[in-house]
Amino acid sequence: MNDLAKTKNIGMDVKPPTEVCKDKKCPFHGDLSIRGRVFTGVVVSDVAKNTVSVRWERQRKMPKYERYERRTTKIHAHNPECIKAKNNDIVKIAECRPLSKTKNFVVIEKMGVEEKVTGTEDKPEEKKKKETKEDKKQKEKTKGK
Ligand SMILES: [Zn+2]
Repeated sequence: MNDLAKTKNIGMDVKPPTEVCKDKKCPFHGDLSIRGRVFTGVVVSDVAKNTVSVRWERQRKMPKYERYERRTTKIHAHNPECIKAKNNDIVKIAECRPLSKTKNFVVIEKMGVEEKVTGTEDKPEEKKKKETKEDKKQKEKTKGK
């Protein structure tokens, strides 16, 4: 490939990476195209080479109690060399063709770093309230896009 220095437009509203890589499985510099679902989550593992585990929360309605149950989803996503997502990074991932047995998502944008909660002893109830508020905000954000 000759046009390695060029960053492709992947047809998504994301900031393209500033770095250039030779990763074939990179949506910006390789021949990987993305399609399907897009999620935003937090990187919880960056141990494997070019792979990260991304986790996010979703709410599931329990009809019996008319309440929402919080569930987390964790998946593996390809981490292109030009993006290099690390632990606690908030990333946007997009569905793509299966890259390996367990990977069919790729990181397309690094959106920031999640603030680490310091080890102070909060009352559990208060903590819960806070998180729900944040979740709502997050939900509204995604809706607006
Ligand atoms: Zn790249």
